[in-house]
Amino acid sequence: MKALRLQQWKSDPVLVEVDEPVPGHGQVVVRVGGSGACHSDLHLMRDFDAGQLPWGPPFTLGHENAGWVHAVGAGVVGLEAGQPVAVYGSWGCGACPRCRLGIETYCEDPAGAPVPGGGGGLGLDGGMAELMLVPDARHLVPLPDGLEPVEAAPLTDAGLTPYHAVRRSWPKLYPGATAVVIGVGGLGHLAVQILKATTAAQVIAVDTRVDALALARQEGADHAVQAGDRITEEIRDAAGGHGADLVLDCVGSTATLALGAAVARPLGDLTIIGIAGGTLPVSFFSVPFELSVQTTYWGSRPELEEVLNLAGRGLVRATTTTFPLEQAAEAYRRLEAGEITGRAVVVPAPR
Ligand code: NAD
Ligand code: ZN
Ligand code: ZN
Repeated sequence: MKALRLQQWKSDPVLVEVDEPVPGHGQVVVRVGGSGACHSDLHLMRDFDAGQLPWGPPFTLGHENAGWVHAVGAGVVGLEAGQPVAVYGSWGCGACPRCRLGIETYCEDPAGAPVPGGGGGLGLDGGMAELMLVPDARHLVPLPDGLEPVEAAPLTDAGLTPYHAVRRSWPKLYPGATAVVIGVGGLGHLAVQILKATTAAQVIAVDTRVDALALARQEGADHAVQAGDRITEEIRDAAGGHGADLVLDCVGSTATLALGAAVARPLGDLTIIGIAGGTLPVSFFSVPFELSVQTTYWGSRPELEEVLNLAGRGLVRATTTTFPLEQAAEAYRRLEAGEITGRAVVVPAPR
């Protein structure tokens, strides 16, 4: 079969022929109906050198996947061929306290995981191929009725990551509170919907691109403001003068972190999701009092079930542009050029 593979660091991925996977004991092979093109893959192609991460190429890209059960290995119970499933993408050891709670992103025995700190499309073969090997059936979550794999795929990362981040700030997002989403791409457009579906906060979206701001309004943002000279005042005005109770930074550059700190409210949260690698100086005088600054990484398996529940009830829905596997490299080119509205999803195996 064909697979879009990252062959080495600091290179573009290539479509090559690979062997079809065969499930071993406890494993499942999924026929991939959707594999999202995440901006993190661009960081993988551009930013990293050998030795920086505990894993590396070659591997098949695509860490945001859903499809149908294709074949199950010995010992797998409760899954049938043809059943639609989402793939929980962070694969830990399965046995440590964090993994037992389904928070495999923060596995405490990475040496016991299939790859330390990674998963399918992150060190191991991902979903940008017709078939994908999932090393344990526990990583598969059945899709709610009516949700197609191509719709579910973006929810496993672009949905799950902001869901996890928003969920931990729920107590601060009471009616009258304000949430700011910086960067309305794959993650950000779902962040806006998740905020509207799960809180009564007003939502202010920020982006540099006019198309992204139009999408933010369509997804329910109360205000959409273009990054520019007066952005801080515009956000503070929209927030009623007192700043934002939550800033979700889906870019993570030095400029967006500075903006986040400038518009945050005392006692608020500034949550860094984007991995642009910027820094924020923190001192007694530089950030609002009692501002909590945190990074978050992806989300837990129970949270993925919650995101899928929202989607199954029509409360969250990814805006997507689809590409056949042969066009996967083009999907990334357009993502890098800022030409994607919402999420680009590669479809290796159409329904
Ligand atoms: P994307 O390219 O789809 O969206 C990024 C958006 O940010 C675009 O709309 C872009 O126009 C906008 N933007 C860029 N610079 C900006 C600026 N200075 N001000 C305002 N808006 C700006 O990317 P994505 O796939 O949504 O990913 C977003 C970031 O999150 C990436 O850095 C990605 O690597 C990271 N990510 C992190 C996690 C995690 O677990 N922490 C998970 C997935 C993705
Ligand atoms: Zn991602
Ligand atoms: Zn673990």
